Amino acid sequence: MTARPPRFPVALDRMIGAAKPAAGTTLRPQAPLQHAAQAAARHACGRHAASGLGLDSAAVRQRMVQRLRAAGVRHEAVLQAFAAVERHRFVDTALVIQAYEDTSLPIGLQQTISKPSVVARMLCLLAEGATARAQGHLGRVLEIGTGCGYQAALLARVGRSVVSIERLKGLHDKARENLSGHRDADLRLVYGDGRLGHAPRAPYDSIVAAAGGDDLPPAWLEQLAVGGRLVAPMHDASRGGQVLLVVDRQPEGLVRHWHDAVHFVPLKSGAE
Ligand code: SAH
Repeated sequence: MTARPPRFPVALDRMIGAAKPAAGTTLRPQAPLQHAAQAAARHACGRHAASGLGLDSAAVRQRMVQRLRAAGVRHEAVLQAFAAVERHRFVDTALVIQAYEDTSLPIGLQQTISKPSVVARMLCLLAEGATARAQGHLGRVLEIGTGCGYQAALLARVGRSVVSIERLKGLHDKARENLSGHRDADLRLVYGDGRLGHAPRAPYDSIVAAAGGDDLPPAWLEQLAVGGRLVAPMHDASRGGQVLLVVDRQPEGLVRHWHDAVHFVPLKSGAE
């Protein structure tokens, strides 16, 4: 049985003294943001432990948002989503103290949740697509690779509707549990092979993949609306490895741009 992530930061404060790395994971040296998290936790417990109220983690997330802003993230809706979604609720108990560091974290079944700066980069690239600019939000979104559901929760705040597909049943179920409090948003979790997209809700204004392959599945391009944008990690030998690929469907046809070097888990076929 997997333990539910503890409430933050009262439980975080307990974790700081007691955390043991999960099997196969390494707790890295503490980054400045983590010191901020600990300070906030100590402060919170000093103020609220007696009443048992705890303090929410908003201040720690604001610190993460400041770092994203300092790193050049300018899209306000994206920053607001990062300020609102509680990343610590999407990771395992032993990793809660690292939840607001700019680091990728294991989420089980050999998969990882990307670091916030990379997720922000993907969301900002999507937000610069033609339809997203015109509508002020990402519109209808398709995400491939739900994982623990963190990015899906962010997308649900920046898009009009979200379909998120995961090929591993264990993670699909975990995401469903993690997102059970997000019933308001038009967010649909689908278990299956994301290489096929999700035709029933196509076309999509924004398509984003959290796993990288050697080619672009044809279904993604077929399901991309005119004015829509696709952002996906893609292996490209001539560029020395995996890079972020942006594809815009313009009225005249598809336009591709290559961006930063990245390191995502592999895009696989079929569902398990
Ligand atoms: N966005 C996720 C990151 C998950 S990591 C989060 O916020 O947690 C990438 C995920 O893509 C993994 O869970 C992996 O199982 C999934 N994946 C890989 N190939 C896939 C495919 N063909 N269809 C659906 N999901 C896939």
